[in-house]
Amino acid sequence: PLSLSDMVEARRICVCVRKRPLNSKEVTKNDIDVVSIPGNGTLLLHEPKQKVDLTKYLDNQVFHFDYSFDESSTNDLVYRFTAKPLVQTIFDGGVATCFAYGQTGSGKTHTMGGDFSGKSQNNAKGIYAMAAQDVFALLKQRRYSGLDLCPYVTFFEIYNSKVFDLLNKKAKLRVLEDEKQQVQVVGLQEMYVSCAEDVIKMIEMGSACRTSGQTSANANSSRSHAVLQVILRRRNQVHGKFSLVDLAGNERGIDVRSSDRQTLVETAEINRSLLALKECIRSLGMDSHHIPFRMSKLTQVLRDSFIGENSRTCMIAMVSPGMSSCDSTVNTLRYADRYS
Ligand code: ADP
Ligand code: MG
Repeated sequence: PLSLSDMVEARRICVCVRKRPLNSKEVTKNDIDVVSIPGNGTLLLHEPKQKVDLTKYLDNQVFHFDYSFDESSTNDLVYRFTAKPLVQTIFDGGVATCFAYGQTGSGKTHTMGGDFSGKSQNNAKGIYAMAAQDVFALLKQRRYSGLDLCPYVTFFEIYNSKVFDLLNKKAKLRVLEDEKQQVQVVGLQEMYVSCAEDVIKMIEMGSACRTSGQTSANANSSRSHAVLQVILRRRNQVHGKFSLVDLAGNERGIDVRSSDRQTLVETAEINRSLLALKECIRSLGMDSHHIPFRMSKLTQVLRDSFIGENSRTCMIAMVSPGMSSCDSTVNTLRYADRYS
């Protein structure tokens, strides 16, 4: 099969990695930074200065990506190299998809949704908001204003293979596939938006819906995939579609003996859907007639992202810098490395 790097050459998929800074909790616990970004799309996993045994990882210290972003990178910079180039795709009648991948706490929501608490929203806009702004900027351009394109937004969550509408009180929705393999989420609210601020309002509404009703700090928002879609319609037909996906945490090291049944079911389901995603992304570049999109609800719902001439995908792998996250970090890097 083609490697991810072959697809990168074809410019259909771009894979990046972003390292977040050590946070205060990690600093307090004397966690050690074991991740370096030397540049040129590489990431180095290295021995800390203090003597800690990292030998189990040392066979594969250097990882390769299209771009690698270090802890000083802003959302704005990450956006410019990842999702921004995909906005054009949906105006040209294509399907664009951007995934945030990584363990819980690695920065997926920070990157995609940004910070929605109070004033900081403007300082740390996420990819959702920046993409929305660019969509409306392009809509105003002369070459597109004659096309009569109408923008809509959907926002939903996939948890344990079930779809919930974040713009409609978490209504549980059915997914249907017709004889032409067209996949439809029945009853999904598609909201008309007239400006970027409208989109941001939807994101705030949906994000609040996503996190409400959670009992523990190990919020089930980290156990679900969240999908924001910006859809351009022309005479009621879908012209282009941009899916921005905040994936469920891929954490390793969940203790099978001490976990309850629900956690084990969730974990199995997350692993299954992330594996399905990797398979579908691989088949993107192969002109394959056998895209295994039915392997999971996530890939089924995103079927259009893997089919068709004009689909482009970007994957941003997030990593925590700490020694304590090493297992999950290696897992993430192996998943996303261009050559694996
Ligand atoms: P995830 O969605 O992957 O579980 P979050 O995006 O919620 O992780 O990030 C966890 C915490 O780390 C949040 O408090 C977030 O603000 C912070 N954080 C994540 N990435 C960065 C970054 N690049 N710079 C500064 N803080 C970050
Ligand atoms: Mg999150």
